[in-house]
Amino acid sequence: MKRVTARLFIMLTVLWLGLLALHTPPACAVQQTVRIAAFNFYPGIFKAKDGSVQGFYVDTLAEIARREGWRVEYVYGDWAEGISRIKNGEVDLLTSVAWTSERAQFLDYGKVPLLTVWGELYVPRKANLNSIKDVEGKTVAVMKRDFNGASFRNMVEKFGINCRFVEYGNFEEIFQAVVAGRVDAGVVNNTFGAAKQYQYGLVSSGIIFNPFDIFLATGKGRNAGLLATLDRYLEGWRGTEGSPYHKALDRWSHGGAASIHVVPGWLAPILIGLVLFLAVAGIFIILLRLQVRKKTDEIVRQAADRKLIEETLYFINDCGARHRGDKLLYGINRHLATCLDVDYAFVARLGDEPGWARTHGFYARSGEGSDISYRLAGTPCDNVVGKSLCVYPEGVTALFPQDKILRDLAVEGYAAVPLWDAQGEGMGLLGIMSLAPLRNRPLIETVLGIASSRVAQELEAMHQLSRLAEQNAQQANYISEKRRSEEQLLEYQKVVECSRDLVCVLDRDYRYRMANGTYLRYRDLTLEQVVGRTVPEVVGEAYFAKVKHHLDACLAGQSVRFETEEAYPDRGVRVISVTFTPVEDRGGNTRIACVISDETEKKHLEEQLRQSQKMEAIGHLAGGIAHDFNNILTVIVGYGNFLELDGSLGRLQHDQVGQIIAAAERGSQLTRGLLTFSRKQVMNPRVLDLNVLVGQVQKFLLRIIGEDVELQFTPARDPLNVLADGTQLEQVLMNLATNARDAMPDGGTLTIETCWQQVDEAYARSQGYGAPGRYACILVSDSGSGMDRATRDRIFEPFFSTKAVGKGTGLGMSIVYGIVKQHKGFINVYSEPGEGTTFKIYLPEAATGAEGHASEPDLAVPEMGTETILVAEDDASVRGLVETLLKKYGYQVVLAVDGGDCVRKFLEHRGKIDLVLMDVIMPGKNGREAFEEIRRVDPGARVLYSSGYTADFMKTRGVLDDSVDLIMKPVQPMALLHKVRAVLDRAG
Ligand code: ADP
Ligand code: MG
Repeated sequence: MKRVTARLFIMLTVLWLGLLALHTPPACAVQQTVRIAAFNFYPGIFKAKDGSVQGFYVDTLAEIARREGWRVEYVYGDWAEGISRIKNGEVDLLTSVAWTSERAQFLDYGKVPLLTVWGELYVPRKANLNSIKDVEGKTVAVMKRDFNGASFRNMVEKFGINCRFVEYGNFEEIFQAVVAGRVDAGVVNNTFGAAKQYQYGLVSSGIIFNPFDIFLATGKGRNAGLLATLDRYLEGWRGTEGSPYHKALDRWSHGGAASIHVVPGWLAPILIGLVLFLAVAGIFIILLRLQVRKKTDEIVRQAADRKLIEETLYFINDCGARHRGDKLLYGINRHLATCLDVDYAFVARLGDEPGWARTHGFYARSGEGSDISYRLAGTPCDNVVGKSLCVYPEGVTALFPQDKILRDLAVEGYAAVPLWDAQGEGMGLLGIMSLAPLRNRPLIETVLGIASSRVAQELEAMHQLSRLAEQNAQQANYISEKRRSEEQLLEYQKVVECSRDLVCVLDRDYRYRMANGTYLRYRDLTLEQVVGRTVPEVVGEAYFAKVKHHLDACLAGQSVRFETEEAYPDRGVRVISVTFTPVEDRGGNTRIACVISDETEKKHLEEQLRQSQKMEAIGHLAGGIAHDFNNILTVIVGYGNFLELDGSLGRLQHDQVGQIIAAAERGSQLTRGLLTFSRKQVMNPRVLDLNVLVGQVQKFLLRIIGEDVELQFTPARDPLNVLADGTQLEQVLMNLATNARDAMPDGGTLTIETCWQQVDEAYARSQGYGAPGRYACILVSDSGSGMDRATRDRIFEPFFSTKAVGKGTGLGMSIVYGIVKQHKGFINVYSEPGEGTTFKIYLPEAATGAEGHASEPDLAVPEMGTETILVAEDDASVRGLVETLLKKYGYQVVLAVDGGDCVRKFLEHRGKIDLVLMDVIMPGKNGREAFEEIRRVDPGARVLYSSGYTADFMKTRGVLDDSVDLIMKPVQPMALLHKVRAVLDRAG
């Protein structure tokens, strides 16, 4: 538009000048002929279409010639021809000559220059040729022997630019060549270019060079007068506004000569021309105004853009000085969104996870939205990060249908620049999104570009900071861990210090590094006496030699646990359990952690428990044997008694029977001992004073120990009342005396002491049974051979004896043990080989008011009876004995071999049985079960049980209840008859 307007304007101007020219009258008088070389140097001089030579020089020269009366004759050719013609005198004058020293050899120059001109490079309108560098590689048209062409070549050479030159005869041809595309550009002078550029549709490239003057010239020394006249005119006219020179110049400055000739010299056409001119001029002015307004708007807009850019620069500097990190990024984003008038701005950084990015300082004009992580694939960002600036002015959501964020936000326009880190790696992007299409793309590009470098710089700093923070956090973690472990260490220290075990730590040189308080107290040492010293120094060479191989095994990495005995002057021999554990200290050195505990008490307890468990087991065994043995003895004693009663026996036979009965009774004593040991002996406890008892038994003891052994008795001052079976206690003392005698074959002393003793919880526990309280004690000591430990451990076992076969039964101590235990007491033995032996017996104090019921044997002759008695006994011999005995005393006897048989027999003799005499323990149905059946048939039936077991025992086993009659085996015939009579009489 602009160019079209300008062209119109030029055309009209030329038209105007042409019309003016028509008013100038031509010259007439000619006295001298001046031949002038003419060539195409438009608009100075050129050949018009009608063949006439015209132009600015022509007009000017014509005026001078008119005034001087010359006749002007033009010889037309090209520039080079003109030069040679002036050389050989064919012409008098040459126009448009630039001064060169070479030309000055054959030319005389006028003193006043015709014009000042310069060279200009013209190019087609669309050519992108803005600076001399763009000429590189191009083809440039120049006029042959033209001064402009020479200057241009010079300049190109100076810049070291390579281009090809093509020579043409004149500027016209040059322009034609440019238009035709034969060359890329053409060098013409400014006057020609300015006049002809639009006609050819060419523009100045803006490349101009060497302005120079052009002159009129004559052949050397030929036309000095002519030259002087011309100089005189030119000198006068050039400085004068409105002179023929200037008029001609104005006329020919910008215009096409062709139009001059088509305009006729009539008035009407002049008027039409004028009207036309005014109309076109009016349009032109309107267009020009529009143009000016548009230009002004553009300038205003450009100024506004420039202001925004300046503001952005200022903001980034200002905000960056006040904020850092996400806050700064948010500030920048907000500024970008505001200044570019868009809805969202954000910075995105590639995350640690490949293909993912995280936004920073996300800004939304609505105030909603926050930073998110998102997958790059399928988003426009993917085309930006590590790549290049992307602008999607509109329709971006449709372009990226996979991008959910764009869709959700209904984004229309998107623009983003990549962010590069210091290594040139793409690390993210700075972007904007808009709900409306983006309009001002250049501004967006510029502003994003300006902000991007600051954002990239900040992102890098943030990354560094977060790495630093991570390191700090790790360090803080480490510190708190350390503090925690220090606290833990303190706790450990306390635990170790409070431990009841002895704890110490040794190094590779067996040197103590630490020892806890328990260790120091146990060994009665101070910390200074231990830490830093070696094991042999602290606990002695002997001990060290004993444990060294354990220590070495531990240093080799093994955990070692062993038991040893250590003798202490005050505490005796202690059983010590030791654990060595290899541990590493912080420096990786091996240490031995020693945990030592005194197990003596524990060992003792264990031993006690084992012992009592063993006794229990043996008791069961012994009890079982005694039960069967009792039956045998019952038979022997029973028939012995029958024989004794037989009057037909001679005196000698009578004595022999007496021997049999006595032996059987000793055997009976033994079984009773066994039963006592297994606590199955019937006990007749009553309150008695131990002092009195020992006093009474002394004379028997003296008989046992013999003359070589002295007996000493030291009774306690207070009476020692206990609830006890006196006979059994006598048995205990006699058994102990017997053993003492055996231990002192060469004589010695037997000492008996009595005293009160308080037994505490711990002692009772260490015995494995019994309760704490006041106990009466009997200490029986001898000065005999004593015992080693192995013997000591086993003396209470039945049948354990160290004596020769036939000499010892191994039952003495078992009976003692059984009796003591049945009295809920304790017995301890203290003995060392060669040091004699002491037995200490504890019997619980009798509760006040406790009075035992003594069942004194009934020695009167039993009465005769007539009743019928059902005898149920599984042992045939005992059954036979009882049958004989009862029949002898007048009773009717019905026999049964077991429980079931008993019930049957009772039914058979229904109503005739007065009493059932029944063994409690029988195969099949036991006594109680059988009798219960009988009771169901006959509630009035009566029973007398017999058993080797105590009533207590059977009650606890649920065999019998309280109110039953029971007779103990081995059955004494007289006792049986008395009991049978008593039960029958009571019931009757
Ligand atoms: P016996 O006397 O028949 O051997 P005991 O049960 O009475 O059986 O004794 C068991 C063992 O205990 C004896 O063989 C003996 O070795 C040992 N003993 C018991 N009392 C003493 C004592 N006062 N001095 C030394 N040893 C004893
Ligand atoms: Mg004995």
